[in-house]
Amino acid sequence: MTKRIVCKFGGSSVADATQFQKIKALVAADKKRRVIVVSAPGKRNSKETKLTDLLYSTYDLASKGLDFSTPWTLIRERYLGICTDLGIKTHVTDDLNALEKKLKSQDPDVTTDFLVSRGEFLCARIMAEYLGATFVDAFPMIAFDDRYRVTAKSYVDIAASLSDENALYVVPGFYGSDLQGQVKTFSRGGSDITGAILANALEASCYENWTDVSGMLMADPRIVAGALPIEYVSYREIRELSYSGASVLHDESIAPCRAKNIPINIRNTNRPEDVGTIIGPTPAETKRPITGVAGRKGFSMIYIEKGMMNKEIGFGRRILAVLENEGLSYELCPSAIDSMSIVVDTKALAAVQETVLEDIQLQMRPDRIKVFPGIGLIATVGHGMTNKVGIAAKLFTALAKDEINVRIIDQGSSQINIIVGVDENQMEKAIGAIYEAFVA
Ligand code: ASP
Repeated sequence: MTKRIVCKFGGSSVADATQFQKIKALVAADKKRRVIVVSAPGKRNSKETKLTDLLYSTYDLASKGLDFSTPWTLIRERYLGICTDLGIKTHVTDDLNALEKKLKSQDPDVTTDFLVSRGEFLCARIMAEYLGATFVDAFPMIAFDDRYRVTAKSYVDIAASLSDENALYVVPGFYGSDLQGQVKTFSRGGSDITGAILANALEASCYENWTDVSGMLMADPRIVAGALPIEYVSYREIRELSYSGASVLHDESIAPCRAKNIPINIRNTNRPEDVGTIIGPTPAETKRPITGVAGRKGFSMIYIEKGMMNKEIGFGRRILAVLENEGLSYELCPSAIDSMSIVVDTKALAAVQETVLEDIQLQMRPDRIKVFPGIGLIATVGHGMTNKVGIAAKLFTALAKDEINVRIIDQGSSQINIIVGVDENQMEKAIGAIYEAFVA
């Protein structure tokens, strides 16, 4: 038997009965699509609330002994509506009634994570019934250790639980079990991770991640109108791009696929004819030096200056230890002979700024220390930049032409990424200029 494809369908792909029908057609169209992971139903229009969020609200009210009927009614209507429209009988009414009873009695078994996980659980139950597939619960197949990492044994359990290569399986995304035997969810958007873990455990030929966009674009279309699609991007490039703001899938879903060189294909449930974006192990063969450009706002730069800094052994380490003590992670740390700049998230810094500055002052006795907020970081990414002469010149010429002042420059030795820091309010303009220079 050829290897299986693991398909994950996101919230918008399971938002109503019509979307379920599309999924049935997609599963029928390729017999390798044997393992289906689902999110909880998402919004049908911009005014609606995702079921996961309704479940959080329900928990919030119910745990305080307050009336939770407003969000709960919407949840019930959504699931029962999907079942009615699909013309299927399910256990969902019983499941919902049982849950409601437990919520009313404030049953201690109904924790936040348990209740919220029911979004995916119920969706998967309906999907399994509709597709005539076998429902396999993620609990306890996916287990977390004491640091909430998925255990090695989980991969063995997944392979054993989904061993029949001819069977069609449906698995709820987003959760597993913790050491206490309770339901534990991943972070938001975590159904992507479930799909990736299953793809790894089953050594799938591909991890198809079905959503409502036809893959990634070379730049945010709100900034660059008509930005071109990315047909192929490597695991390394996607890390750089998604860190810098290009978000298509949960960043923790890359590693499980990367470990087994499984390609991830981002596809559009509403436009299955589009090839989407493939995220894979090797660098793409492309004529363009860059694969994409992305940016993120909300950074601050801590600038520290001290004469003869380069001779002071341990200077950098001690500064970073101050940050570590305050639980503050840093993004970039460009340094010069007598100065060092540390770029951190502005919100994270706000909580500890006073202590951090005081400690640095006390321990390092700098000549000058200053915080510059309002920085936007832009990553220009592409294997095509490696060993090419003139890339930086082109980039900075484009920025200069548009009168954009560059505050930070960072190029890793891998040469697949050039990061520039600019004033936040110039970020969009800078992304446009870079795109124009390399792509348009
Ligand atoms: N339903 C969860 C969320 O909204 C997980 C997911 O959709 O991936 O975050």
